[in-house]
Amino acid sequence: MFTIPTPNPGKVVMTDLATWEKRSLELKPASRIFIDGKFVDAASGKTFDDVSPRDQRVVTKIASGDVEDVNRAVASGLKAFESGVWREMNPRDKKKIMLRWAQLLSENYEELALLETLDVGKPISDSLSVDSQSVARVIQWYGETIDKTYDEIAPTPRNGLAMITREPLGVIGAVVPWNYPMIITSWKVGPALAMGNSIVVKPAENSSLSALRMAELAIEAGLPEGVFNVVPGLGAEAGQALARHMDVAKLAFTGSGPTGRKMLQYAAESNMKQVSLELGGKSPHVVLKDCVDLDAAASTIAWGIYYNSGQTCNAGSRIIVEREVKDELFAKITKFLDEFKVGDPLDPKTMMGPLVSKLQRDRVNSYLDLIGENGEEVVFGGEKTTGDDLTIKPTLIANVKNTSRLAQEEIFGPVLVAIDAKDEEDAIKLANQSEYGLAAAVWTGNVARAHRFARRLRAGTVWVNTFDALDVITPFGGFKGSGSGRDKSLHALDAYSALKTTWVDLS
Ligand code: NAD
Repeated sequence: MFTIPTPNPGKVVMTDLATWEKRSLELKPASRIFIDGKFVDAASGKTFDDVSPRDQRVVTKIASGDVEDVNRAVASGLKAFESGVWREMNPRDKKKIMLRWAQLLSENYEELALLETLDVGKPISDSLSVDSQSVARVIQWYGETIDKTYDEIAPTPRNGLAMITREPLGVIGAVVPWNYPMIITSWKVGPALAMGNSIVVKPAENSSLSALRMAELAIEAGLPEGVFNVVPGLGAEAGQALARHMDVAKLAFTGSGPTGRKMLQYAAESNMKQVSLELGGKSPHVVLKDCVDLDAAASTIAWGIYYNSGQTCNAGSRIIVEREVKDELFAKITKFLDEFKVGDPLDPKTMMGPLVSKLQRDRVNSYLDLIGENGEEVVFGGEKTTGDDLTIKPTLIANVKNTSRLAQEEIFGPVLVAIDAKDEEDAIKLANQSEYGLAAAVWTGNVARAHRFARRLRAGTVWVNTFDALDVITPFGGFKGSGSGRDKSLHALDAYSALKTTWVDLS
């Protein structure tokens, strides 16, 4: 697999649990609404508790935005947009600000990683080496596009000129989930700002801290006030207000299918704003009997589901395996997990931490209750937890029917289900038999078979003999119930702009 260059090569310092604990207690994160470059209280004065899944500690109280706060944030974004302070800025200067912002994100990567770990419970080693690194890279990458993208001239007769230009849309509303809060924020903010829009971000209730800090650093880098606002709050309040706002030109949403449906409804009932949806998944990980490296497949499968405690939209949560290699594969995954350290997310040695909340843990528990209903068998894990223990051990369930709830619904926890395939044709059929189509993988030693799978798998991303190879350079999004939006790559610039045609008579 190729490695992704980071802005901090060699700088990821892990330190130890005691140091991270001390730093987490000293941290005083910004927790108010960010409008016009300033932190302000919610108009209602309301707050909600920011509870860390690590130990149920209330890290801080977050200002709970609602309609009035969203109105203020959108008005600030619109004022900035109409003034042209960002949209009309010389592309070279815009790029400099974005690059300076990426630099500040990079310099503050430890603080950003800590905020993310406290909010989400993800291992600090992952937050340091993946989340905060990739955010700086995404902003840098979109900053670089600003003075390198060109518009078009149509092939008109000589007496006319028709220019096709990309125009920013205005104020973008972005509603993001809690599983990769700052990475997904950067996927929206990067291309939206590169195209000259303003943006209002509504983070998920469990994870507001990193977006607030990102916005503060953007202003420090020189982004004009009002161009990037953040309104934390509840989905049904701040999220809905943003999605229904008449001055929001586009809603960029990442989250669950049911909420995505509401976004379409809110748009239809307000100003018919553009809506892009990046939704859930139940990604199949197919292992054929001609796989040449079952050890690599086993470790990759384990990482593909247990990374971030299975709370990943493209998690490879469904293995579809030809019967001939099933036992050997399960034995290898089991062995790999002997070395897989589950524990305190602030311990740099931890590879998997708790689930994000009690609500999510109980949701995963409810799926573990289904084991055995249709002859399923636990290979390892499978125990529920209660009380303040939010950690569910890595679980593998075998003999699962592809039509069962365990195989069809997004569990969003460290639970892998295995389905037997008779042959190649059966494996393709099973892989595609899903309401989702976000990602898929196949392990095979046969090049032609690999390409046949890649063509026939109905998924936005297909991996051959690997999993989770992702970078800002390629688009990411789904088919079917996984939504039709695409984040990342140059294609995302189209999602934050509209084409304008200008005809000039030269005769
Ligand atoms: P969610 O749908 O519950 O919430 C997502 C966001 O929507 C949050 O900010 C929430 O506050 C807001 N929201 C909730 N109800 C709302 C309402 N009525 N009106 C307006 N906003 C509302 O999803 P989640 O539990 O935060 O995230 C997990 C889901 O996100 C999973 O399904 C996962 O697969 C998906 N996801 C998809 C991608 C992708 O790129 N395709 C990436 C990450 C996560």
